[in-house]
Amino acid sequence: MTELVWKTAQETGAHVARVRQAFIDEFGYEPARVFSAPGRVNLIGEHIDYNGGIVMPLALPHRTFVAISPRTDGVLRVTSTQDGSETTGIAADAIAPGAVDSWIAYVVGVPWAMRELGLLDEVTGADIAVDSDVPLGAGLSSSAALECSVALAFDALASGNDSSRQLLAATDEGRKKLATACIKAENEIAGANTGGMDQSISLRASQGSVLTIDCRDFATTKVPLDLAAAGLSLLVIDTRAPHQLNDGQYAKRRAGCDAMADAFGEKFLSSLVTDGTEVKGDVDDAVARWREIASAGEVEVPGEYTVEALLRHVLSEQLRVVETIKLFEAGEPTAGTWSKLGELLTASHASLRDDYQVTCPELDVAVDVALEAGALGARMTGGGFGGSAVALVRAGEQDAVAHAVREAFASRGFNEPHFLSATPEESAREEF
Ligand code: ADP
Ligand code: MG
Repeated sequence: MTELVWKTAQETGAHVARVRQAFIDEFGYEPARVFSAPGRVNLIGEHIDYNGGIVMPLALPHRTFVAISPRTDGVLRVTSTQDGSETTGIAADAIAPGAVDSWIAYVVGVPWAMRELGLLDEVTGADIAVDSDVPLGAGLSSSAALECSVALAFDALASGNDSSRQLLAATDEGRKKLATACIKAENEIAGANTGGMDQSISLRASQGSVLTIDCRDFATTKVPLDLAAAGLSLLVIDTRAPHQLNDGQYAKRRAGCDAMADAFGEKFLSSLVTDGTEVKGDVDDAVARWREIASAGEVEVPGEYTVEALLRHVLSEQLRVVETIKLFEAGEPTAGTWSKLGELLTASHASLRDDYQVTCPELDVAVDVALEAGALGARMTGGGFGGSAVALVRAGEQDAVAHAVREAFASRGFNEPHFLSATPEESAREEF
């Protein structure tokens, strides 16, 4: 059998050495400090962060590292070992929405947003080298890993210069503020309209736990997840299908959801069926109410897309998350807990495929084949249209499941998939 491609995370010390070397190669001197932040995989709760739903991501062992030194001339120079292009420089006062049209937007947007939000007095110059083992554009949030490591770097540089300034990264409340800045940077400088899950988990994760994030106010709760103790593992399948959120598909769905929320007079669609984890409504009722609103003809329904199906996904996904939370609240997990979790994952995928329509052939094949090969459950994870799927598998069957997916991809002429094993790791931190 052909070898599988496993993307294991680099050991921390080796990764620090790598990013330091990248910095030295590029700028010709030693960096002052090194920071890192993790990518993430979302266990369940997809496309509901921007609908005020509850999501359940975990931080991956895979991280983005940045090495940084301050500069006194107000210039930011940025280089990445993942990006073939030249090192790019930009003056701090030239950073503005629409003014940065390369990947460095994810870097320089962060201190800009921190200053806009009053978290930094000024954007100081810096030399920055980036090195990551989070796969780029694979739905595992390399973008947030980059932003969040940069946020920690500028937070630390500012406190280094001013001993009266409190380090925001020192408290969860401060990290919540940094997450807001990272979201603002991604929305306004990088021009990607993301909902906030990715930055929240990268900055606020806790080792050994999934984080439930209530995206109405970004309140979080830790849910311990020890899959190894249960003889299970979480297999991430990077389909390596091109993922294209930028062709307007994501925007269409967001516009549909926003229009429905407006029509209902609710800020968040999720509140039609739940208040936090309290279930107060029913998907069918909400859909019927929507039909009445739509047939009255007073609201404008954007696009050709059937918004009713969008609503069904958002509300049913929120209920699946609540069921997942209650599963874990019920006490020590049993075999029944895991098979139920598997069912919820698979039902989430069906909803994303049939109602929200954000899967693609690679994601559907990965999920179907993983289930046939014995996975307890599987679903796409992240934005969709490519990217990754996640499968809950018995640890001893992980390789067999991966092989089955690999063979199925080969026989269909898809790109070769890559595989990761996900365990819940630590949030963004300084490296010493
Ligand atoms: P995802 O966050 O799922 O990986 P996105 O499309 O949101 O996918 O973000 C990927 C983009 O983020 C890349 O195309 C690139 O512009 C930027 N990026 C992320 N990490 C790096 C890195 N290490 N070096 C250069 N650019 C990066
Ligand atoms: Mg992203």
